Amino acid sequence: MTLSELKKTGGFPDSLQDSLINWFKKDHRDLPWRHTYNPYHIWISEIMLQQTQMARGVTYFERWVDRFPDTIAVADAGQQEILKYWEGLGYYSRARNLHMAAKIIVEDFAGEVPCDYDQLIQLPGIGPYTAAAIASVAGNRDVAVIDANVTRVYARLFDIDVPVKEKKAKDQIARIANELLPVGQSRLYNQALMELGGLVCTPKTPKCSLCVLSGFCLALDRDTVNKRPITEKSKKITTVQRLSGIIFHKKRILLLQRRENDIWGGLWEFPGGELKEGEREDAVADKILECTGFAVDVIDPIKTVTHHYTRYKSILHCYHCRLQGDDIEPILKAADDYRWIFPEELEQFGFSAGPRKVIEYIQKHRPALFSL
Ligand code: SF4
Repeated sequence: MTLSELKKTGGFPDSLQDSLINWFKKDHRDLPWRHTYNPYHIWISEIMLQQTQMARGVTYFERWVDRFPDTIAVADAGQQEILKYWEGLGYYSRARNLHMAAKIIVEDFAGEVPCDYDQLIQLPGIGPYTAAAIASVAGNRDVAVIDANVTRVYARLFDIDVPVKEKKAKDQIARIANELLPVGQSRLYNQALMELGGLVCTPKTPKCSLCVLSGFCLALDRDTVNKRPITEKSKKITTVQRLSGIIFHKKRILLLQRRENDIWGGLWEFPGGELKEGEREDAVADKILECTGFAVDVIDPIKTVTHHYTRYKSILHCYHCRLQGDDIEPILKAADDYRWIFPEELEQFGFSAGPRKVIEYIQKHRPALFSL
């Protein structure tokens, strides 16, 4: 059934919009960025919540705005501090883009985050979804927002029987979203849709008996809720293994800084390299030689940690090593910078999840290692 056919059934879609907005006004979650709808807060929350669970996002958001209350504070900060405050959220290009965008906003918009979609979409790290979210939620501009939650809700409401990644379905959902968007109420309507997808019309076991839209839902009517949305099979997860060494020399340990243009650019790590197929796990000394020119003695294994990302699994094998000789100047083959630091200085550096887990393991289970 098309939207116009549905409209002919009477009262629809206005009552759908009213029902949804009234539900949201009553049952929405009390989130810190909803207190003021400050565009800067909406921007930070939207970037942080990509690939991040809500409770975790709230904690990071509060810590962030406490330290960086506005775009000027972000623009003035050094990249190391920005990455440090992002540590644990992953996908660090988001933090680097946010830093770049803050500088542009200070320069071109006197520090005020714009609410105009066309201006927002020009900024680093802001794509169509984020631009629409900031424009509508912060600025109440009439722009439809389409994310995974909204896609799922519309695919069920309209019983869309084509895979939602296909152009045909995307076009259909975009058309529906634009037609249903109530003029002057996009802030509430868009948030309500996303909230419904996040709390009620969830991917697994949606709570249809509690859903304010159940009277409008074609999938519920046709008993196809569990078949909608039609998604592609999930992509294969690739496993990446890495060997690294915590190299000690005169009570200090060596850190390398990842190259600017890689996924963890700007973050720090322990030296090492990828464990390729057919290589042995004790090849850590060779990997360290390759990436620093240092010969090391491998004392013992410390810990193997695993971290899951959307498309791959990362396994890090970490070893306790000791530098041979007194030459402490590495040859940097795949890093931008290096530091020899005391273990108590580790907290001043930003790490990705793997090395951070190793540090936490040592602090908890082998603290003597850091007081050698
Ligand atoms: S009735 Fe069920 S499937 Fe339909 S929108 Fe509500 S929660 Fe989703």
